[in-house]
Amino acid sequence: MKYIALIAHDGKKQELVNFAKQFQKFFNQVPILATQTTGSRLAEVGIDVETVASGPKGGDAQIAAKVTEGEVAGVIFFRDPMGKHPHEPDINMLLRLCDVYNIPLATNPATAELIARNIA
Ligand code: PGA
Repeated sequence: MKYIALIAHDGKKQELVNFAKQFQKFFNQVPILATQTTGSRLAEVGIDVETVASGPKGGDAQIAAKVTEGEVAGVIFFRDPMGKHPHEPDINMLLRLCDVYNIPLATNPATAELIARNIA
């Protein structure tokens, strides 16, 4: 089964945790791949996650590689649109590769809900 990848910037982590709790049934049915800090926040609320490196240390790039390898069914990436990020090139790479490979990509809860309700 392919992964659902979850990433949230610091200003959006609580929002992602709340979202994951709301859709806990879905998240318990699919393998989850998350960047490190996001993953530990999700693990605290009982969601089983596999983690890659933290975003600024290459985690987004690792998830992008999994997208390229066909191992990802969808990406939920709560970006902080108000923040600046040192790893902007990696973020853009991940977004670009989701488009290259036609992978569902949600950058806000409204769209993430569509993924959670339609992929299982
Ligand atoms: P993090 O990485 O989950 O390790 O904080 C996410 C990011 O900032 O891209």
